[in-house]
Amino acid sequence: MTIQTARIIWHNGNLLDWDDARIHVMTHGLNHASVLFEGIRCYATPRGPAFFRLRDHLERLYDSCKVYRMEPGWSVEELTAACIALVEANQFSECYLRPLVFRGYGSFGINPLASPVEVYIASWRWETYLGPEALEHGIDACVSSWTRMTPNSLPPTAKAAANYMNSQLITLEAQANGFAEGIALDQQGMVSEGSAQNIFLVRGGEIHTPPSASSILPGITRDSVMQIARRLGYRVREEAIPRAALYLADEIFFTGTATEITPVRSIDRISIGRGMRGPITTAIQSAFFAITGGRQEAPGDWLTFARPISTR
Ligand code: PMP
Repeated sequence: MTIQTARIIWHNGNLLDWDDARIHVMTHGLNHASVLFEGIRCYATPRGPAFFRLRDHLERLYDSCKVYRMEPGWSVEELTAACIALVEANQFSECYLRPLVFRGYGSFGINPLASPVEVYIASWRWETYLGPEALEHGIDACVSSWTRMTPNSLPPTAKAAANYMNSQLITLEAQANGFAEGIALDQQGMVSEGSAQNIFLVRGGEIHTPPSASSILPGITRDSVMQIARRLGYRVREEAIPRAALYLADEIFFTGTATEITPVRSIDRISIGRGMRGPITTAIQSAFFAITGGRQEAPGDWLTFARPISTR
């Protein structure tokens, strides 16, 4: 998947040409992984481009930074305005955004404090992560032989680039074995999450997802799906899920900003339910896309419009 480049990248309050957003090889974040980030989608709607849960994403970025004692130097409101300015500058009707906060060029020791904090926001057009086919037909996944990081080693609740080395092990192994994605277990052997997505299973009409104690990133799509499912009348439980429960589910789906809501049709070559997208997954997916596409009223402040809406 090559990046579809855009014109402009936001850096510390300035708009740079895409090709000018460069860093030195001795950047602290490159050498010692002091990088925190977010992934946000902006959807095309009849009222113009709309960010999905922008404030929640930026607040999670601040939470990630707090754990690592990194001060971005810009408020949530300022970064909200920056995201809007960037989408306008790139004239996108829809896109993916990647705010990055990292320790730049300064000192070389492990202690990051003497290296300046840099903030960038990149945006580009990005289709569905696992492909448009996957949204309809589902993907084949496996349980990974790699375990997710523990809460007291690399906190999975912080969206740190370092965590994605664990994600890379999971996804590389899965793809080397012919699967689209891997599912990691936590230290206790309970289901955690995919390499970059949360997981839900449906059995007997009830929806289950691992709790935050199962070494997951508390996904914003996960939270949205729980709210949507409850509004559709389903019972949703956050509870520890043993591996074998995956094989016995009627339906399984992944959630994530890039992944959106992607059905899983098999795990370890065992068919999940009828081996195709199930009815509850379909219902939640269509409610989700109706909200993100601006066709159905979004709860609270889920959508932030990039352009002021004409009231006429
Ligand atoms: N878990 C991991 C490890 C992720 O990288 C992501 C993607 N951000 C998710 C879960 C899903 O989170 P969200 O719905 O907020 O994108």
